[in-house]
Amino acid sequence: MATKPKIRELLDESACAHNKTKTAGCNKTVPGATTGGCAFEGSQISLFPYADAAHLVHGPITCVGASWETRLTRTSWQGRDMTQMGFTTGISTNDVVFGGEEKLRQSIDYIVGHYAPQAVFVYSTCVTAMIGDDIDAVCRQAQQDHGIPMVPVHAPGFVGGKNLGSRLAGEAVLTHLIGTLEPEETTPFDINLIGDYNVTGDMWQYAPLLKELGIRILSTLSGDGRVARIRTAHRAHLNVLVCAKSLISLPRKLKEKYGIPFISVSFYGKRDTSASILAIAEGLGDADLIARTKQLIAREEARLEERLAPYREIFRGKKAVLNTGGNKSWSIASALQDLGIEVVATSVKKSTQVDKEKARKYLGEKGVLMTNPGAEQAKIIDQTGADLLLAGGRSLYTAIKKKIAFADVNQEKKKSYGGYEGLLNLAEDLKNALENPVFKNVARRAPWEK
Ligand code: SF4
Repeated sequence: MATKPKIRELLDESACAHNKTKTAGCNKTVPGATTGGCAFEGSQISLFPYADAAHLVHGPITCVGASWETRLTRTSWQGRDMTQMGFTTGISTNDVVFGGEEKLRQSIDYIVGHYAPQAVFVYSTCVTAMIGDDIDAVCRQAQQDHGIPMVPVHAPGFVGGKNLGSRLAGEAVLTHLIGTLEPEETTPFDINLIGDYNVTGDMWQYAPLLKELGIRILSTLSGDGRVARIRTAHRAHLNVLVCAKSLISLPRKLKEKYGIPFISVSFYGKRDTSASILAIAEGLGDADLIARTKQLIAREEARLEERLAPYREIFRGKKAVLNTGGNKSWSIASALQDLGIEVVATSVKKSTQVDKEKARKYLGEKGVLMTNPGAEQAKIIDQTGADLLLAGGRSLYTAIKKKIAFADVNQEKKKSYGGYEGLLNLAEDLKNALENPVFKNVARRAPWEK
């Protein structure tokens, strides 16, 4: 159950740097605060990349619509990608009166019989949490009957927003999956990646470099993830939290339970990618590995600089406004700076305290941290003479009105901007945006209009 003490504990995360007093945790939600995505949605987004598991939403069909997998969370799983199927128990008024447990039982049996998943994640929603269905008991029984993990995820929408939902998803994985299987073999350089969902293949930009160094990704939560691998996560030597403060409770608890240290990194931009690869090598603590890592970084950076050279002239003197969410408020800013673009403003509306501090560090004292970007961005474009707006699709109209170039850096983006290769993708997209004549012409009056 997502009990009140559990929610309080997850909101008061002691591993968050800003929570020094234990009374400065994240805010409890107020009515209306979940309009930007509910806890259930956050939990499902965190677990969706496990394509070999079925994701069963125990609730009315509308909840499935709210959280449908729209991101390009790429998977190399060769079997049927079950994130592409919308499994729901489709709770109706009748079930609200008489209870939905039987329907849940039948749904699990049906899914296991027809789709043979490696596990089933069962998500509670507002309705099924309120009618009090005991999904723990149903999952326990189903696990016995079918012999595969059944994972109840207690993140009904009303308990809070997306970030809290991610933490509750981490709790579910920690309680029901991690430590339930031993890996076939271990290596001294086994790590877990936590918080990279492999959106547009971000993880695949840097995973080959880790492999070249002999660093093995034992498991992930949850980009290109496998259920069998996350069950062995307790045998890793280092947890690497990628750009995701929302999941910070998990590595902290893995440290307490299994003694696995953790580091927090970002793979956007040249500087951060290099620093992250080195931090992983240092975290594993092997002198030879660290030396080899430094050589690899030098090689990759030189190669990148050579390929970025043609873009440098195009980006010289260009200014950008960045309106995106969470950790991207600083990680994309850092990538833009690596390209020689000045970032004059970034949005911190959905950022954690740590994200805000990092955004300030990257932008300096002059940079604007927008708390209400919808209202502020147009004014800042005018004041600073910005050339570029990087944001989600809805901000396109601001760019058109202001006749400046626009690039989509939110969920709708189709290419990865992660790692060294991703920085080249970003450079190419920004070059195309800056050279696209449509932004200059589209808001112009027709020649025959005065
Ligand atoms: S879980 Fe609750 S808040 Fe979330 S989509 Fe379903 S009904 Fe809406």
